[in-house]
Order: sequence, then C-alpha cells, then structure tokens
Amino acid sequence: MLSPIIETSKIEKIRDLISSAENIVITTHTSPDGDALGSSLALSGMLTQFGKRVHIITPDIPAATLRFIPGTKEIVSYAKYPEFAQKLFDEANLVFGLDYNDAHRIGDMEQVILNAKAPKVLIDHHTNPADFPDVIISHPEISSTCMLLFRVFCQLGWVTKIDKTIATYIYVGMMTDTGNFSYNSLDPALYIVIAELLKKGINKDEIYRKAFNVKKESQLRLNGYAIDQKMVIYKEHHAALITLTIAELEKYDYNNGDTEGLVNVPLSIPGVEYVAFIREGKEYVKISMRSVGDVPVNEFCTRHFNGGGHINASGGEFYGTLEDAVKEFEKGLNELDKYIKQ
Ligand code: 5GP
Ligand code: MN
Repeated sequence: MLSPIIETSKIEKIRDLISSAENIVITTHTSPDGDALGSSLALSGMLTQFGKRVHIITPDIPAATLRFIPGTKEIVSYAKYPEFAQKLFDEANLVFGLDYNDAHRIGDMEQVILNAKAPKVLIDHHTNPADFPDVIISHPEISSTCMLLFRVFCQLGWVTKIDKTIATYIYVGMMTDTGNFSYNSLDPALYIVIAELLKKGINKDEIYRKAFNVKKESQLRLNGYAIDQKMVIYKEHHAALITLTIAELEKYDYNNGDTEGLVNVPLSIPGVEYVAFIREGKEYVKISMRSVGDVPVNEFCTRHFNGGGHINASGGEFYGTLEDAVKEFEKGLNELDKYIKQ
C-alpha cells in the first residue's frame, strides 16, 4: 500500500522489544497536542490488543479542549502523580517517546526517562533527535507522528489490527498537525492513509468539528479581544505579534488550549509572512511562532527563545518578563527579512 521508508532492522528491533515486554510506558511532550495524544493513544490501543499492560504518561494534564479525544482520561499526568508515574517507569520493560525529539521537551520527566532502565524507542517527526533512545525513528519530512506511526504499523504488518478507535486517534494527529490538511499536506501518501482510515469507519467530519469548531464563549471572546486589541503588525518586516498577559487571560477564564490556532490568524493578512504569539505564564513566557514559505521560525525560536520545532511552526520559552520577551522578538525581526518573498 505504502512503500516502506523505515529501515527494516529498526522495525524488527521494535517487534522484538514489544514481544518481550509486559509493561510498557508511552510518553509524550509537555502541553500535549492532538498529534502527541493521538499517537500515544493509537500506540496504546494497539499494544493493549496484544495483551500488554500499557500506561501513557504525560508531563502535564492535557488541555480541556483535547478531551474530546476518547481515552484522554486514562492518561497519567506526571505533574499530578509523580510517584505513581515513577513506579510505572520502574516496572516498565519498554518505554516509548512519541512526538518529541529530546528529553528536555518532557519537562520535569526528563531525568526520569533518562534514568529509566527499560529500553527506549523514539518515534518522532522533529529535527535533531537526541541519541539516548535505543531505537530512533525520526522522520522530519513526515507531517505528523501519527502518520509516521501508521507507517510503523504498516511495516509491522499490523494494519488489519487498526480498529475504528485506533484509526480515529491516528486521524486526530494527522489532521491537527496539518491544520486540517492546509499546510505540510502535499505528501500524496497522506491521502492514501486517510482512505484507509475511512475504511476503518472513522467519521472525519465529526472529528474536525470537535477539534476545530467547538469553543466556549469566553474562549471566542478572548481570541476576539486578542486580535482586536493586542495584534501588532510590523509592516516593513512582514511580521505580526500578539501578546497576552496573565491578567488578560484570567479575565477570560483561560484554560490551556483556549488560544490554540490564534497564532495562525494574522497569517491571513496579505503581506504577513510570520507571526509570534507571546503568552505570559506563571513560570515562564511561552512563545509560539508560525510562518509561510521559507521563513524559518524554528531557527528564530532556537536563537531567541531556547526552543525549536518545524520551519513553519515552532515555539520556545522565555524566562523573564513579557516586555523583555517582546523586546527579544523585536530584536530578531531584521534577521528574517532575507527570507521574505513579497
Ligand atoms: P505550538 O506553537 O503549537 O505550541 O508548537 C508548535 C511546534 O513548535 C511544536 O510542534 C513543537 O515542534 C515546537 N515547540 C513548541 N514549543 C517548543 C519549545 O518550548 N521547545 C522546542 N524545542 N520546540 C517547541
Ligand atoms: Mn507532531
């Protein structure tokens, strides 16, 4: 169906590790998104079918906006249950890392995974994978970890074992990491996989609606306020910025995930080629960036915000005030001028 792209030796190593493991832990990154949760749940669903005892451990609690994904309630949050999570790591015979390239992407769980005795398998689509895992399946050219996981299943000969629930999880990640197939979505294989998932019975229209079209009133108002009052356009640099302070977030009863997608909005303005959304947090200031074309916001985030990601979608953290984070962003505006097309 799909031509294999993952080395057979890695696939066979994974097959062996799974067959000899009884207790399996699956981990994914901080503030897990649809791809992080979708891939973790899909792998968990598959391994459970084989009679394995599987736990998904996330560094923090998944955003309420993603709880439409069935199964998210079963996920163990390290922030909430550190001792239980540690016990699961101690008992594990195999640990998976999905949708992150490096242990620092899992926050406080970093040392726990590095110290875990069990063999580790990384399945991810970010650049520069760390070398701590025993098996590394890293394909930055693939638009989502869910799509990559489907390919792993395919090469393991497990496509017939994908049921409607697992297919739904895989579709969630494929869809959310491509903005419903509106960017990073030119790979013809994507549509072959979608066809296969539809044959498994997924309701793609309903998944879309739940993921993108269900919003609380306060959430809509917060996003409206941010666009109307807090969006700054740097016309000469073809850039835009939105900032939100803790006080503003609290006024609109903010929960994690409520500003998902906001960073993309200024890209709809003709002439704007990249955007930063800077959100004040209690521990640090969070930066999200998006761009079109060849504007490498991942490099920008690495240079200025200790972060990274994909060329058109990246993020980072800033330890300082919101004002200083904005100054840091403005300091870098000149650097991206050379990539602007218009
Ligand atoms: P988002 O803006 O949706 O939070 O993140 C978009 C992408 O940026 C993520 O898929 C991830 O690849 C990357 N990213 C976000 N935050 C960070 C961060 O703090 N560090 C690194 N290295 N990458 C990040
Ligand atoms: Mn992803």
